[in-house]
Amino acid sequence: MGAEQAEHIERDSRKNVKDWKATSAPGVWFPHRMRDSSHGSIAVFRETGSGSKKERLDVDCKEILCDEALFWDGGDQASGIRFDAWCVSLIKFVRHRAWCLHDQQRWFCNRFIRSMLMTSHAATEYRYEKLTWPEINDAVELEKVCIVPCGAVEQHGPHLPLDVDLVCPVGIAYGAGRTISEKLLVLPVLAYGYTGHVMDYPGTINTNYSTFIEQVLDVTRSLAYHGFKKIILLNGHGSNMPNLDLASRRTNLETDAECVVIAWWNLLTVDKTFLPKWRESKFPGGCSHACELETSLYLYLDGDNVRKDKIQSGTISFNAEENAFNWVDLFGAGPATIIGWTSSYSSTGVLGDAEKASAEKGEVAYLEAVRQLSAFVDYFHGRPKEQRTDLHRRPPTFPLPWGQRPTPFQ
Ligand SMILES: [Zn+2]
Repeated sequence: MGAEQAEHIERDSRKNVKDWKATSAPGVWFPHRMRDSSHGSIAVFRETGSGSKKERLDVDCKEILCDEALFWDGGDQASGIRFDAWCVSLIKFVRHRAWCLHDQQRWFCNRFIRSMLMTSHAATEYRYEKLTWPEINDAVELEKVCIVPCGAVEQHGPHLPLDVDLVCPVGIAYGAGRTISEKLLVLPVLAYGYTGHVMDYPGTINTNYSTFIEQVLDVTRSLAYHGFKKIILLNGHGSNMPNLDLASRRTNLETDAECVVIAWWNLLTVDKTFLPKWRESKFPGGCSHACELETSLYLYLDGDNVRKDKIQSGTISFNAEENAFNWVDLFGAGPATIIGWTSSYSSTGVLGDAEKASAEKGEVAYLEAVRQLSAFVDYFHGRPKEQRTDLHRRPPTFPLPWGQRPTPFQ
């Protein structure tokens, strides 16, 4: 760096320090001095006592570049400022006042923040509930995508336990979490789904559709409030779909987060060549419920809990009519499919070709689902949100009446 440039930065810093001191919040300023591109010092301001007077502390902060890692070089003990509080101040400062930073200052700060965040537990932990609240702050800074597995406690025939719709989406979400932990968090599974049509089979737990939608919204609203702006509802139970569709749409209209629903089995349709190679059962009907696919995945994820001696294929009685309108499969449905009580078209609760299932096929399906979910998270994570526009010539005269967010112009 030339002497002229250094002088410019010094002058620039002094001006901005003045600006900064005029603000009310305690905070940090960088850099007071910049010796070269890899070293600097940071001036930290803090409130003293109960008055508004600010004390300037020159903290000896040295950036040590080592395999892309960056270390705090002490200096905070004397000032009594805790390192994590200091980091939070730095992040807030850069986020809110980046406009007044010199390019090189911004570069240093952003680099520092990135390095600092990557050493946080939040960068490697993918289980939401295993973080502490300060680490949640780090996860928000990392702009992690939140995956909420949504399932149901429901009958899955005589050979599979009631938790199939929990084990499958959680297993896949955790697989993606292990693959790209720096970009996502998996929340505890939302266990009770909308499954009233299956109540004839003992064990099924139904949640009223409105309760279910409100519960999902309570989770997405909480996440959005804390700062998570990308949410995936990873569904494991077919009949949750219309309700999750509503919940995600409402999340998008009522909060500033982006929310999307993915049924885990639909991840297998991204690569058009996958299912034709994988599937052995007939379409439609072979893959519907406790079927070739669900049984295979459960055999792979939790095979010890499958009653292997009881695996038996089952049919859907109205599929047997071979009517062009009225048929169903996990991967499609007729244009006029009559969905009533499950017990009216199945005696065992098995809808599909469970006998074609195997743990090996389950592993192949699992790996494909994890691969595609990770690819979507990667895309979603870095994707800027589209901006909404109010096209009224005369501005609306009262707020949107459905709990939706006001336009940016109101
Ligand atoms: Zn299921």
